[in-house]
Order: sequence, then structure tokens, then C-alpha cells
Amino acid sequence: MNTAHPSIIVDDSEIRQQALAVQRPQPLTEERRQQLIARIKQLLKEKNAVLVAHYYTDDDLQMLADETGGCVSDSLEMARFGHAHPASTIVVAGVRFMGETAKILNPEKQVLMPTLEAECSLDLSCPADSFRAFCDEHPDRTVVVYANTSAEVKARADWVVTSSIATKIVRHLHEKGEKILWAPDRYLGGYIQKVTGADMLLWQGSCIVHDEFKARELIKLHSRYPDAAVLVHPESPLDVINQADLVGSTTEIIRAATSMKNETFIVATDRAIFYKMKQAAPDKHFIIAPTGGTGASCGSCAHCPWMALNSLENLAHTLEQGVNEIQVDPGIGKQAMVSVKRMLDFAQSLKTPATGEANIASPA
Ligand code: SF4
Repeated sequence: MNTAHPSIIVDDSEIRQQALAVQRPQPLTEERRQQLIARIKQLLKEKNAVLVAHYYTDDDLQMLADETGGCVSDSLEMARFGHAHPASTIVVAGVRFMGETAKILNPEKQVLMPTLEAECSLDLSCPADSFRAFCDEHPDRTVVVYANTSAEVKARADWVVTSSIATKIVRHLHEKGEKILWAPDRYLGGYIQKVTGADMLLWQGSCIVHDEFKARELIKLHSRYPDAAVLVHPESPLDVINQADLVGSTTEIIRAATSMKNETFIVATDRAIFYKMKQAAPDKHFIIAPTGGTGASCGSCAHCPWMALNSLENLAHTLEQGVNEIQVDPGIGKQAMVSVKRMLDFAQSLKTPATGEANIASPA
């Protein structure tokens, strides 16, 4: 059962203000854009670097990662790809915890990011000190944290999980009779609790982007496109998840564009994912799920303000100057690696990648 606890009520108003204050990069002229793309391609070769980009970064960064032999993926696959690649430098276009995860898995490599200011509301909602104190209050619980956390929080955890394998791992622990302390996303935690019936104590963080999807508006939109499939990332509120034909990780949402027969999809996750969905299914139609609004009341409008900080300008600058290097204390990194590796070994034992599982609901 879900046990509410006063010490994990996160006041996220400050985090929301921080997100609203982010200055997104200015659009470029076509000439400048082309110059930067050519320069970045050249610099990646010169510096023996590989670019790995998250699905939520802007189209040009995803295109560059694809065209230069890098990868576009979720945070874990980005780190794994960087590990397997022979380049000595991994350039991570994403948010800070992704750079840290890459460094945890690749301590011997240089990890650079276009900007060190790209935060994540889930990571910000879970400061290491209060998280450690909270875990210490509940020594009887197995600590399971989502990948969207700092290296220090990962180091305190027993397990690190991605959205695609979280349900399987929690079910496995539940079947062994273990009680769970889950952090930081309350929606993903609540969803897993509902699916597995596990005893989970939930940290109360949320993703400011997915939190803005609205169930009532989604129902109205779906009634205008009754043949559309609704695809929902489980960081969304439960009443939005309840409208889904498929609840899945980013990788699975992209896969659904081809594996599901529908011609139209309503998608509740960051709109930058459309770059890969359109690549996979160019003739299909993708609509973003409704958010809180399009004006001042909408903090993200379905695009993460911190992901949007990654730009061609700062990527070129990082490569030219070798700046924005990610450092993780080696002791913390080693400890965090234990909980990450536990997930990888579990995935291996199932012969399931830690990216790409989905729950397909019966159509309503
Ligand atoms: S979309 Fe949400 S979970 Fe992802 S980086 Fe942005 S704030 Fe974090």
C-alpha cells in the first residue's frame, strides 16, 4: 500500500519557477545553422568524440548524432552506447543526470555536455542529503530509484531502474516479500504500485513536463480522433495514464508508431520524440496530448525547457574548448555502478533490454 509520509512532500513551486525562467536558445539563420552543423561534424572527428543525444533534444542534435555515427536514445542506452564506442570522449546532449550516468558507466572516458545548466525536475526534487536521511528512517525497505537522479542518490540506492524495466524489477522484489522505498517520480511509482500491488513508499517528485498533460482535454481530443491510439509515458498523471492504449518508455512509444496499425497517434510525452516517430513512420500522423495551456500557465508546453538548452551553438563551443566536463567522485561512481549493474544483470537474466518494454492496455 502507498503510505503517505510528511517528510517526502516535495514543494516543487521553486523548481517550477526555475523551469519557467530558463531562457531557450534563439533560432538560427539557415546559413549559421549549416555552418555549425559542418563545424560540429569536423570537430567530432578531430577530437575523437561521439555524440549521443536524448530523444527529447531538438531535431538538429538528433540528426547530427545519427549522421555522425553516434546514437539517439534514452539515458541508459546513451551511456551504454558511449561505453561500447571506441571514441575517447562522449558528448552527451541531454540533462545533467544523463551526463553523470554516462560517467558512472565510463569512468575512464571524458564526458562533455553542451551545457551544465540542463537540470531535471525529478533530479532537483530529490536532494541527496534528505534522500539519504529518509532511507535511513526506513531500513526495512529496499531502495529503488529511477534513472532521473543524481549520482549520489544512485549511490544510496539498492537498485537503479529505467521506466522500461521498473515494473519487472519491482514485481520481482515484491514476489520476494520485499517492501520498496521508491524515488523520485510519484506518478511512475504510483503506476508501478497499481500494476504490481507492491508495498511502496513513494517520494513525491514529478516531471514538470509530463505533469502538465491533462486528462479531461485528452478525452475531448480523443473524441475528435476516435481512431487514434493514445500513447502515454508513465511519468504522466494517473488519470492521463488511464486513457492510454499503450503505456511505455520513450523507446516503446517510438516502436508503437510502426508496431500499432493506427494511422494517428496522440502522444503524451515530450514533443521532440516526434523526430524519431516521423522517421519510423513518415506517413502517419502524430498529435501532442493537451497540456495546461500555451501561455504563461504552461511551464513546458510538452517540451522540456532544460533539454531545449542543448543547441548547435553550445555543442560547437563545448567541442572547440573542451569545456563542460562531467565529473563524478570516483567513490560515489563506484557505489552508483553497483545499483546500475544490478539492473543490467537483471535485464540480462530476462534477456530483456532495459529499454523498450511497454504495457499495452485493452482498447477502451
Ligand atoms: S522531461 Fe521531465 S524527466 Fe525528462 S529531463 Fe525534463 S524534467 Fe526531467
